[in-house]
Amino acid sequence: MTIQWFPGHMTKARRQIEAKLKLIDIVIELLDARIPISSRNPMIDEILSGKRRLVLLNKADLADPGITEEWVRFFADEGLQALPVDASSGMNVQQIFALSREILQDRLEAQRRKGMRPRAIRALIVGIPNVGKSTLINRLAGRSAAATGDRPGVTKGQQWIKVGHDMELLDTPGILWPKFEDQEVGLRLAATGAIKEEILNVDDVAFYAVKQLLQHYPDALRERYQVEYGEVDLDNPHEIVELMEAIGRRRGCLMSGGAIDLEKASLVILRDLRSGRLGRISLDRP
Ligand code: GDP
Repeated sequence: MTIQWFPGHMTKARRQIEAKLKLIDIVIELLDARIPISSRNPMIDEILSGKRRLVLLNKADLADPGITEEWVRFFADEGLQALPVDASSGMNVQQIFALSREILQDRLEAQRRKGMRPRAIRALIVGIPNVGKSTLINRLAGRSAAATGDRPGVTKGQQWIKVGHDMELLDTPGILWPKFEDQEVGLRLAATGAIKEEILNVDDVAFYAVKQLLQHYPDALRERYQVEYGEVDLDNPHEIVELMEAIGRRRGCLMSGGAIDLEKASLVILRDLRSGRLGRISLDRP
């Protein structure tokens, strides 16, 4: 489900998160490892205003591992600890506990010095739709605690889910809106499946994806579709469309008259990109 974000919705989403911030010690900011900047809420620093934060680069299984490492360093330079994770398989998820304790170390120590019994760390997961919030909550909780999928506007009584031996999560994650102002950000969000490609033109999204692949992963399309191509001029749209058509021909994406169905070919390419069948691809680079 795609949420239509209007200014009123954004204000409401922001208020809901700000109300929850009072209850928690640390924010777990979920980003898509393939597009850590494009999947980031544009006002996040302002909204979280100084709250302790752990950044998770989720879907790291689909991202280019070398680029993900660069992102970890990028966030470190911003003063933020970032951890690549894969909420579906659980990769690195257990490290969230130790890292959260590390980020809150001074406070936990201050409590101990005062002779207070350390209480569970209280955390809130935030992120744009489809970044994997529910999957991560379920993974951390070790059971089907949160329904996966988007649940915009659903407000229930706050509930804490106990995860690990010293952490509690708010059961409803904070849903943030993505960036809208930038055309390329929109294409990256659509290419990775964060927003439905129907919002944009499917052919445009696939065209963008193919161009990115040719630029940064020149063998990916050749290996997947067994199409032959030499040096493609990235500034010549005709050459890119020709390659998309060649892929369509390979995949039998034909219209009734026998002409190549470019939209079908585009959907094939996007489906393969999102599922990792074109390899581990990152679209944002530091
Ligand atoms: P939410 O809207 O942020 O709660 O996102 P969901 O938890 O519903 O996840 C959106 C989609 O991403 C689902 O199809 C998940 O299976 C998938 N997903 C979540 N985490 C990962 C991950 O780490 N790797 C991969 N490959 N898919 C993931």
